[in-house]
Amino acid sequence: MNIGVLGGGQLARMMAQAGSSLGLKFMFLCPDSHACAAPYGEHLCAPYDDKLAQEHLAKWADVVTYEFENIPLPLVESLQQQIPLHPASSVLSVARDRLPEKLLFHTLGIPTAKFTPVDSLEMLINALEDINPPAILKTRTQGYDGKGQALLLKGSDLSAIWKEIGEVTCIVESMVKFRREISIIAARNQKGDMVFYPVSENHHRDGILRLSISRQNDAMQVAAEAKIRKIMDNLGYVGVMTLELFQVGDQLFANELAPRVHNSGHWTIEATETSQFENHLRAICGLPLGRTSSTQTTAMVNLVGRLPEESGIRNIPGASLHFYGKTKRPGRKLGHVTLTSSDYSPEEFEIGLAALLKLAGEAELASRKFFNSTPLTQCN
Ligand code: AMP
Repeated sequence: MNIGVLGGGQLARMMAQAGSSLGLKFMFLCPDSHACAAPYGEHLCAPYDDKLAQEHLAKWADVVTYEFENIPLPLVESLQQQIPLHPASSVLSVARDRLPEKLLFHTLGIPTAKFTPVDSLEMLINALEDINPPAILKTRTQGYDGKGQALLLKGSDLSAIWKEIGEVTCIVESMVKFRREISIIAARNQKGDMVFYPVSENHHRDGILRLSISRQNDAMQVAAEAKIRKIMDNLGYVGVMTLELFQVGDQLFANELAPRVHNSGHWTIEATETSQFENHLRAICGLPLGRTSSTQTTAMVNLVGRLPEESGIRNIPGASLHFYGKTKRPGRKLGHVTLTSSDYSPEEFEIGLAALLKLAGEAELASRKFFNSTPLTQCN
């Protein structure tokens, strides 16, 4: 089958890597002339609204998908008229905009941080009467990796913040004092069959994911599965979805959903029989979904802005290195490393992870203990 992908970054690249063993062929529509997925298929280097490129893609592909939610909705709507496309444009219209996304969570009885829409400075001032600072102002669309967000404190200069964020439609959210951030990834096919991956525990710095840990038998697995199942069934979803959650005590609050494969699931390449990338392709191609269980603790460390010396990483047993072939830029995700635990005792795994985090420039995370006796995952 021929798979058309909107976007040509590392998610599209890893999708194509997984798809090659399924005998799939790929074409990427991506305006970036250095699209890192390009070596794995045909690259249509054109703006997303280029009619000729759209026609070419629609003629060539058997099914179209996308690797991120910040693509123009009209493009997805138009392609969907011509060719099977998953996840559907109705899903994208919810997932790309924080307001309908939060409203969906509420309709389904899934708790979130307190929030209110804000379309003007006056509404922002009023919002803070209701939601006590500290709070967060988030643009409704186009936000990623902590971009399009501002912290609102008591006494903040709201007029300056409103200008800085671009005077665009936003929401204000109360700050959640979470114990952990986790995500759950699931795949659903056209028949409504679903598979779930073990949850990931996520650690961010400067709004960018730095570390994901997948532990054995995470206590929040069942609750997280129930929430993502509700959402996917409600949307009639086809493909892989990711749900980001805040854990407060033993309760889960939905933060946001991603209608796609996700950075917090890169460890599935090494640790599960069927990676998130392969299951996304299976779902959109109408193939049976593959098994998702993992029998080991796994960690994934992002390489952001700079690349550590390769030999250092290769010397850590159980470390699998993935470079994305992108040029260096501060804050840019250039690769990741997955650390699997099959060769390790828990203590050795902790030491290996600390060494890896140090090499990745994550000194603060490297100094933490993730596998000590503190029952991080027991919440009754
Ligand atoms: P987001 O783009 O909504 O995923 O936000 C990026 C990161 O900011 C999250 O992963 C959290 O670490 C933090 N964050 C976002 N919203 C909240 C919130 N309401 N309360 C506390 N932290 C938040």
